[in-house]
Amino acid sequence: MTTDQPVPLVDLAAAHAEIEAEVRAGFDRVLASGGYIKGPEVAGFEEEYAAFSDARHCVGAANGTDALELALRALDLPPGGGVVLPANTFVATAEAVQRAGLRPVLVDADPDHLLIDPARVAEVLADAVALLPVHLNGQLAPMAALLDLAGDRPVVEDAAQSQGARQDGRARHGRISATSFYPGKNLGAYGDAGAVVTDDDDLAAAVRLIGDHGSARKYIHERFGFNSRMDALQAVVLRAKLRRLPAWNEARRAAAARYDGLLAGLDGITPPRTAPGNEHVWHLYAVRVGAGGARRDALLAALNAAGIGAGAHYPVPVHLQPAFRHLGHGEGAFPVAERAAAELLTLPLFPQITAEQQERVVEALAKALAA
Ligand SMILES: *Cc1c(COP(=O)(O)O)cnc(C)c1O
Repeated sequence: MTTDQPVPLVDLAAAHAEIEAEVRAGFDRVLASGGYIKGPEVAGFEEEYAAFSDARHCVGAANGTDALELALRALDLPPGGGVVLPANTFVATAEAVQRAGLRPVLVDADPDHLLIDPARVAEVLADAVALLPVHLNGQLAPMAALLDLAGDRPVVEDAAQSQGARQDGRARHGRISATSFYPGKNLGAYGDAGAVVTDDDDLAAAVRLIGDHGSARKYIHERFGFNSRMDALQAVVLRAKLRRLPAWNEARRAAAARYDGLLAGLDGITPPRTAPGNEHVWHLYAVRVGAGGARRDALLAALNAAGIGAGAHYPVPVHLQPAFRHLGHGEGAFPVAERAAAELLTLPLFPQITAEQQERVVEALAKALAA
């Protein structure tokens, strides 16, 4: 039996309920210590997240966009060099490239999985000093093919949406990766936070330096940097959530499988596909709506009116954003990204979602499709 209770896109309060006692105890510890930036909680989280990522190093940052910029800056790439990224990503991927003094080189995605398409990357390789694949919606971009193409160029992974995801059994494939702990991410803080993960000792040290005013010794600034540090209260939350993340990702996988089953009979709706070799962590469960643009927007409005927190991620690809007009791409430049922007409909999914909530989502969707 379903009810007519609203179903949110994500339910962060449900996650908080599971960790509340731990978080309050940790906050008390931090507040009593008087140490609010970096310190033992942040160091403890960095160690735990490095282990979770099978990495030698994790360096905390203030947010995911900074983490990407820090990773790119640490690589000391030639100023103005081209960094290849997919057109269908959250705008932050492109922002970080430009803020690092580099040039976004956009390419299209593969139509089946909407991940950066190695065949399109090959076409712009001559203009590239680095590759920046995005592990969109919780599954890894095709890393073997990308590493092959990259040759000596560094591959930086945008892992903001893929915490815990693996490909061919491995969590990381590039030289350095950056992630975001924005509250809605699979591992979310109670505010902004992010991190850089790498096996490379020198890169980790450079990230740490750049993100703390270029300083390893107080008031001695060895290189040009800025301020992007993780704060201790966020580390408390992240440590409590990290302990649950494997189980929470498993619950996301179960919920995604349940949607696959519930949606099987619905005409005009194509469930998302997992690429070969990927262990998906379902940051987002986004279906394709056959007829595109207007139809998706009408379904989205109908679902929202019925109390279903569906969404569209992301309705405008990077190359059509006013802020990136200077890249010089018009409509039609990246047809797969443009179609995805018009057709994707994100359904509510979070670790604590119940079968009843999912049934209600699909019932509302079926009703909207028939209207
Ligand atoms: C969330 C996100 C970011 C940026 O993270 P913030 O913490 O919001 O700065 C970067 N890339 C992708 C793909 C994201 O989803």
